[in-house]
Amino acid sequence: MTVTCPACGRETAQAVWHAHLCVCPACGSHQPIAARARLTALCDEGTLAEMNADLVGGDPLDFPGYAKKLAAQREKTGMQEAVMTATGRIDGHPAVLAVLDAQFFMGSMGTGAGEKITRAIEYARDAQLPLIMFSASGGARMQEGFFSLMQMAKTSAAVADFSDKGGLYISVLTHPTTGGVTASFASLGDIMLAEPNALIGFAGPRVIEQTIGQRLPEGFQRSEFQQEHGFIDQIVPRAQMRTVLSRLLRLHEGGVKRT
Ligand SMILES: [Zn+2]
Repeated sequence: MTVTCPACGRETAQAVWHAHLCVCPACGSHQPIAARARLTALCDEGTLAEMNADLVGGDPLDFPGYAKKLAAQREKTGMQEAVMTATGRIDGHPAVLAVLDAQFFMGSMGTGAGEKITRAIEYARDAQLPLIMFSASGGARMQEGFFSLMQMAKTSAAVADFSDKGGLYISVLTHPTTGGVTASFASLGDIMLAEPNALIGFAGPRVIEQTIGQRLPEGFQRSEFQQEHGFIDQIVPRAQMRTVLSRLLRLHEGGVKRT
């Protein structure tokens, strides 16, 4: 079994591909990685404890075909929702983690994902633990309409409250982070990290080009562009993510907690 890299077309044995955390060994392009695989690679062995694993959203609008599509996404990914939340230790440092998975309904945020994210933030606040969230999302879950958009305000309010209590929030943006997720919790990190060459923006480049009737500059909305313009603090290749996060957690663990 081999995996063909969508960026360079080279084939890699599946075991090697996964050992490289879905980063192409030939060209270095960062391809989607399952939330569970990301968390397992990041956390110390035996420390990962999933939270609210069975929490799911509803179908508040009784949207045609939505229930069937949801069932198919669950079957395909083995996940119940687009986000996995957990507690774990990174190089001995405890943290609360939330990881959106672009392979589940494009990582879109509906009521289920929004609630899981909010609960993770509130848990981190109450337990006085640092919070690390990985975003990968097409935005709000259209099939849940306004209920989906409400998750933007809910998650943002939870981050604001966590921040008021002195919590450390590290936001990691991965390909693609767009729409309602960019416009809410993903952009609110105390420290903003990104994987290389990730698309990060609100509206996608095609929509912007059609709206303004102009060609966009090369690399527009990619991680490197966002770092150049001050939105991203550091670009971190996936292979170095554990080391960088461990260092950041160590640097901040002596911080004074405000009450
Ligand atoms: Zn490649």
